Amino acid sequence: MTLVAILSGAGISTDSGIPDYRGPSGVWREDPEAEKLVTYDFYMADPEIRRRSWLLRRTMAARNPEPNAAHRAVAELERSGTPVRVLTQNIDGLHQAAGLPARKVLELHGTAREVTCTRCHARSSMDEALERVEAGEADPACTLCGGILKAATVMFGEPLDPQVLADAMAIAKGCEVFVAVGSTLQVQPAASLAGIAAEHGARLIVVNAEPTPYDALADEVVREPIGTALPKLLAGLAAS
Ligand code: ZN
Repeated sequence: MTLVAILSGAGISTDSGIPDYRGPSGVWREDPEAEKLVTYDFYMADPEIRRRSWLLRRTMAARNPEPNAAHRAVAELERSGTPVRVLTQNIDGLHQAAGLPARKVLELHGTAREVTCTRCHARSSMDEALERVEAGEADPACTLCGGILKAATVMFGEPLDPQVLADAMAIAKGCEVFVAVGSTLQVQPAASLAGIAAEHGARLIVVNAEPTPYDALADEVVREPIGTALPKLLAGLAAS
């Protein structure tokens, strides 16, 4: 069976109303003050940054984004019996919300659906932390050790999880088809994963509104809107 690896970036979630935060021209890069809210050293050093960061998380969660046609098409491909692994740059959990089993998803930048303690590394749900913010705790601390809590995302200045990265590399090397969707392929490790897949003989398909540095290397480049292009493309892969 053909292993299909799908690398998804911010562009797959814009139809769900989530702006591109982290890309080269994303929200964080365009607004240095906002970027501090997701930069590890600033976050750890300043309770005021943490207070604003929690308020922002609350605003983002209140929008309650839903998976869109592209997320559903990925879950559908998996249900059709095709081996699928998703490598995502997104922290929104929408692949899983669309029905893709969590074990099929590698979250390169972590997840905003959970929080982690920076001291004891205990994890708990974001909803629970936001309820505490709602109830008046500006900067909720770890209930186990009193340490500083943060979203379980990879902030600027934090390393990627080496195990997640190693798993992603192995998938890029082993897949037969590598679909890069909604990613500018300019942020590491996404960019190098596409290159590794191509080097190891995968058929590389790029689905993105804007040109990417990997278009020349790709077997197929699709510029149509992701919400219509991806379901069509994946239905073709399921049948083949
Ligand atoms: Zn703790």
